[in-house]
Amino acid sequence: MSLAQRINRIQPSATLEMTALANSMKAQGIDVIGLAAGEPDFDTQDHVKEAAIAALRQGFTKYTPVGGTNDLKEAICEKFQRENGVSYKPAEVTVSCGAKHSLYNLFQVLFEAGDEVLIPSPYWTSYPDMIVLTDAKPVIVSSTMESGYKINPEILKRHITPKTKALILNSPSNPTGVAYSPKEIKDLVQTAMDHNLTIISDEIYEHITFEGFQQQCVAALGEEVKKRTLTVNGPSKTYAMTGWRIGYLAGSAEIVSAVTKLQGQSTSNPTSIAQKATVAALKGPQDEIRRRCQEFERRRNVVVEKLRTMPGVSVVKPDGTFYAFPRFDGAFGKRYGDKVINSSGDLATYLLKEAQVVTVPGDAFGDDRALRLSFATSMEIIEEGLKRIGTELQKLS
Ligand code: PMP
Ligand code: GLU
Repeated sequence: MSLAQRINRIQPSATLEMTALANSMKAQGIDVIGLAAGEPDFDTQDHVKEAAIAALRQGFTKYTPVGGTNDLKEAICEKFQRENGVSYKPAEVTVSCGAKHSLYNLFQVLFEAGDEVLIPSPYWTSYPDMIVLTDAKPVIVSSTMESGYKINPEILKRHITPKTKALILNSPSNPTGVAYSPKEIKDLVQTAMDHNLTIISDEIYEHITFEGFQQQCVAALGEEVKKRTLTVNGPSKTYAMTGWRIGYLAGSAEIVSAVTKLQGQSTSNPTSIAQKATVAALKGPQDEIRRRCQEFERRRNVVVEKLRTMPGVSVVKPDGTFYAFPRFDGAFGKRYGDKVINSSGDLATYLLKEAQVVTVPGDAFGDDRALRLSFATSMEIIEEGLKRIGTELQKLS
């Protein structure tokens, strides 16, 4: 039996693979330091869990409308109004099984062979592969570490062709943690508008920001921008709800309804009780988000400080998320035993084998000189992980 060509054109998700590897090593009793996980280490809050338990008890266990319950859509609209100053109607919102699923569905309904989609790099590992699955072409718009891993309108314009259909924005960014200022976002969005591009704004890390940084919601930049923008978000990161699998998309009612049609022929509704839990998260107390951010910020400071003491290592200070994306130029070309480190994969393998530290190789995010380190884990593990990395780097010659 042979597989369809399309599945051979994509790679497994490196983030999920490395996280699974760390978990399986832990289960075998290996003293592993997992710095790969792309999810908060905090638990879902009790009032959110209670809402799901109550939903189960009330027998809320049947199919719901394909694109989510009205209650949830209304809670999402209230969230956009309250937090972002944008008014969406429930008909402009559809809920899927995680923000990843929202993006997948959206790409399926928007893109086809002949289209080009702009992805600023470093990028979240799933964007290019999801675009390849639509037969469109991912076009990588590279940034440099020197520019703080940000692109600008000039760089963007160089990649726009008559085939360019859309631009994906993800600020704060997975994997760099870098966030665009409101002015920088505005300028990029203006360039996209000037070329009639659709803007897909993945705002999943909007609330995980440091030093009071306020992420600019793209759709809040005005009515004309809102018409061209599809906003993707979800409770996974903000409310530590990765396993519940809820994500949502807001934008033109026509596109939203096409996504719902696709979903009606694939997964149907997202899990009923997870929808109830998300309503509780969106409508409940919000103060825990700030507290958790402060903890992420404390960890970020330690990660950046320690990385900067390592010779040959450089890192841009993240403005948000729970990732750092250091470059290890100093390690490249060096040896251990009869092996030479020539790529992020070589370095990640070396750290894994010699020090049992699990990271995600940067090539999965578009930069083969870097590793992604997640600090969504305890300070103790972070400190031990960085100590081991420092020691292993010194052993290279
Ligand atoms: N976008 C980005 C940038 C992410 O890092 C993630 C993390 N998985 C997602 C979307 C999807 O999140 P989820 O499917 O868990 O809602
Ligand atoms: N987004 C997280 C990460 O980048 C979770 C895993 C995934 O869905 O890619 O690690």
